[in-house]
Amino acid sequence: MSLLDLQLEMRACQRCHQAGYEITPGAVFSGSREARVLLIGQAPGITEVEAKRPFNAGSGRRLFQWLGDAGWDEDDFRGRHYMTAVTKCYPGRSRSGKGDRVPSKAEQALCRSFLEREITAVNPHLMILVGGLAIKLLFPGSSRLADIIGTAAYFPPERLQNPVNFNFRQAIHLDAFDRTLDSSGRWVVPLPHPSGASLWPNKPENKRLIARAVAILSDAREQRDL
Ligand code: SF4
Repeated sequence: MSLLDLQLEMRACQRCHQAGYEITPGAVFSGSREARVLLIGQAPGITEVEAKRPFNAGSGRRLFQWLGDAGWDEDDFRGRHYMTAVTKCYPGRSRSGKGDRVPSKAEQALCRSFLEREITAVNPHLMILVGGLAIKLLFPGSSRLADIIGTAAYFPPERLQNPVNFNFRQAIHLDAFDRTLDSSGRWVVPLPHPSGASLWPNKPENKRLIARAVAILSDAREQRDL
């Protein structure tokens, strides 16, 4: 099945709705098989659903500020690279009224095969995990953002025979880009959730961690021509 067929299938998907979750159907993602960077967020917000593009609104401003600091122009990044999410439909507001609902484990499981098929089709050189749900695809659930942001994981090519390798123990964990590592391996870089509702990125000590993450992305972009 082609990536285009998969994208049609995702857009038409009603699995979560049929399972009783009050999502707004209409999967949000962008990009093609030619992408060399694959960015994974948590789930789209309502403005992303309306605009049909990931990270369209406030969280996109902060995300593209970080990516801009790493050397990617927003239009260039959107045009050349792949953007998706752990769950691809808008999950609605949280019960507390503060921000959007975090998709349940069951919804994440329902959507997981789509994410795995996207990763397999694109087979990216660099994967950017944005926010807690995406970070937990690879990092242990008990990990603290302060211990993860500013680090990167590298999968050598022999560990990508299954292109959906999220085995934390099979990655080499580094705190800087290493240009001597095989260029056909995959780098995975975590970033915090860029929503304006999150105060974590505003703290000075966390800004320093984000600057380290941006430096890794910048080096990966330059060295791997991404
Ligand atoms: S979130 Fe994923 S599994 Fe759920 S309805 Fe949307 S595309 Fe389907």
